[in-house]
Order: sequence, then C-alpha cells, then structure tokens
Amino acid sequence: MRRFEINLPGSVDECVKILAERAADAKVVAGGTDLLPQMKNGVTRPALVVDLSGVASLRSLSHDAKGLRLGAAVTARTLERDAHVKAGYPALAESGALVGSVQVRNLATVGGNICNAAPSADMIPPLLALDAEAVIAGPRGERRVPLRDFITGVRTTVLGADEMLVELSVPDPGPHSGGAYLRHTPRRELDIAVVGVGSQVTLANGVCTKARIALAAVAPTPVHATAAERALEGQALTPQRIEEAAKLAVEAARPISDQRGSAEFRRHLVRVLTRRTLMTALARANGGQP
Ligand SMILES: Cc1cc2nc3c(=O)[nH]c(=O)nc-3n(C[C@H](O)[C@H](O)[C@H](O)COP(=O)(O)OP(=O)(O)OC[C@H]3O[C@@H](n4cnc5c(N)ncnc54)[C@H](O)[C@@H]3O)c2cc1C
Repeated sequence: MRRFEINLPGSVDECVKILAERAADAKVVAGGTDLLPQMKNGVTRPALVVDLSGVASLRSLSHDAKGLRLGAAVTARTLERDAHVKAGYPALAESGALVGSVQVRNLATVGGNICNAAPSADMIPPLLALDAEAVIAGPRGERRVPLRDFITGVRTTVLGADEMLVELSVPDPGPHSGGAYLRHTPRRELDIAVVGVGSQVTLANGVCTKARIALAAVAPTPVHATAAERALEGQALTPQRIEEAAKLAVEAARPISDQRGSAEFRRHLVRVLTRRTLMTALARANGGQP
C-alpha cells in the first residue's frame, strides 16, 4: 500500500475544513472495511486519510416522534442490535445483521455502505424503502438530499470531494407499518448479495396507503420498483396482489449476468424476494412478527 498521511479530526467542522483544503487528494475513512481493501488493491490512492473515528456525533443514534436520526458512522452491528431499530425499522436491522461477519459489522458503518455506493450494498434498500434523507456537510454549509437521488452510479454519489455525509434522517413510518429486507447469497456469510430486496408498507383500514420496494444488485444503482408500489397502493394486500407486484418489480430490474448469477436467475430472485419481503412487511404492519 502506498504511504499516506492520516488526520484524526474531533468534529464535523474540523473534517469539513480539512476536506476543503485537501479535497483533491483526501479520502474519508469510517470503518475502513471498503476503503482499506480498495487502497491495498490500488483502486484508490489518497495521500491523506481523514479518520472519522474521533467524531462522536457521527456515531449517535436517536429517535423521536418524527423518526430516526442515524449518524453516518453508526455501525451495522448497532443497527442489528438496537431495540428501537429492531422494533420500528426491522428491515434496517435485518440488513445490518446480514453485513459480513460480526467483526466486519463492528466496523462497517451505514454511511460507508452508502458512500461506497456498491450495487450490492445491503443497508441501502431498506433506507430507500423508508424514504430516508441524507444530510451532507461541506464548505458551503449543510444540504439535504433524498437518498433516492444520492447514488448516481457504481461507486459514485452526489457528494463533492469537499463534502461528507453526516446523518441519515429516516421518517417514522407511522402506525400499521411494516418492513423487511432479504437477500440471496450463495454462501451464508461473507458474501455479497446476488439480489437484495427491501420492502415497506403502511396500512389503514385494511388498505395499503403506502408501499415502497427497493432492489439491490440488479442495476448500477439501487432501483425503486415504482410500478409495483403503485399496484399495491389503495388496495388490500391479498396474496394475488402481492404476486402481481412481485412480477412488476421484475420489470423494474435491469440485471446483468456475471459469475455470481445469470440475469434470468436474478429476475427470478427479484420476484421471490419481493413476494417474501412484502408478505413479511404485511404481517408486521398487522402486528405480527414472523
Ligand atoms: C469481509 C467483508 C464482508 C462484507 N460484507 C458485506 C455485506 O454482506 N454487505 C454489504 O453491504 N457490504 C459488505 N461489505 C462491505 C463493507 O463492509 C460495507 O460496505 C460497510 O458498510 C462500509 O462501511 P465502512 O465504514 O467500513 O466504510 P469505509 O471503508 O470507511 O468507507 C467506504 C467509502 O465511503 C466513504 N465514506 C465513509 N464514510 C463517509 C462519510 N461519512 N462521508 C463521506 N464519505 C464516506 C469512504 O471515503 C469510502 O470511499 C463487506 C466488506 C468486507 C471486508
């Protein structure tokens, strides 16, 4: 690995100041589980690494009536174990629990998962299905971007080189809501998603008032299955409607064939995982915990 400088700021303001001065050759590191392998492989060669581990505010997780506020450096392990996340945002807890191994999850952060912008990233679909918003800090102040607009391509985001992600703001899904995240991997652990699906539904008087379905690893960026969502909204969620929505989700996917699975297999997985996550989301919205 090429030699590099490391800087350990104690606040977001300090990080932003350093990035403003050194944007051209600096990289932020949170858990390092994506960045360090990339530096070893020469994918990226920053001269300065800005280590976020000294910025306590980035690790804060709080909630109120409006929803959840996740510091960018909240770990996958925290999402997996936090009682409030598990109860109110189960899809997010499930996605955290699937990342790597316990050792990886203790380091891997939600902000790193999003900013690395891998098509297979597990924590992104549940956050998309929950209509999360990204809070970004930079030399021109703070700006907020809906997460659905944050990722622009494989490993690219709307973040400028002098900006950083500080927080995810996740609206409270409200009563009679439920969500679920599932992925398929050939191996049980330490493998990345061949397909991942996060679904979220809200019910009122037996009818679905809001549906969100987000797909991972079926296109360069995460995909919203909007036609499938529209087919569910305003309807009672019968098994037939859910199956129809799952078929519509397949149409939203643009999978490739690679060594991890053919496009045809990925389309099949989208249908199966969409159906299963919607069934679980529905049961949870109805108060069950299957
Ligand atoms: C063995 C192994 C297994 C894995 N398994 C999975 C898996 O099952 N599912 C999965 O989704 N991922 C997996 N990963 C990938 C990785 O662990 C996750 O993507 C993780 O969430 C990255 O977080 P991090 O804090 O380690 O990011 P880092 O490596 O610190 O950073 C990743 C990228 O994001 C940038 N970044 C980080 N934080 C910020 C910020 N606040 N603002 C701006 N930019 C930022 C960095 O500059 C870098 O470009 C695995 C990795 C390993 C090594």
